[in-house]
Amino acid sequence: MNCIFCSIISGDIPSKKVYEDEICFAFLDINPQAPVHCLIVPKAHIQSADEVNEENACVVAHIFSVIPKIAKELGLSAGYRVVTNIGEDGRQSVKHLHFHILGGKQLSENMA
Ligand code: 5GP
Ligand code: ZN
Repeated sequence: MNCIFCSIISGDIPSKKVYEDEICFAFLDINPQAPVHCLIVPKAHIQSADEVNEENACVVAHIFSVIPKIAKELGLSAGYRVVTNIGEDGRQSVKHLHFHILGGKQLSENMA
């Protein structure tokens, strides 16, 4: 499958790795939109959060258990934002489920 994030997970495309375990992989965004901009993805290819179901929801639960550890590691003690874009209207450009972790400054109030 031709997927940028699957290639990053396999190491075929280099990335700045922040965290890895058997279920998920986190790395710095190549085009940061905040002083700290990290992406966390499941190793299993799931297209988007719209594909989450009873069977794979445990992967998302695991990712959310890891996010606070990554945020601490990245020094986001004053808070941060977790975002996932879905589909065309949601401006999802990479079709492999990912959560943006954004912080390092007080973020915009604007969500949309
Ligand atoms: P989306 O717009 O799909 O929610 O977010 C995709 C994110 O992936 C963007 O913030 C973009 O900068 C990032 N991205 C795309 N290609 C690469 C890459 O090859 N390496 C890294 N580190 N980030 C990427
Ligand atoms: Zn993928």
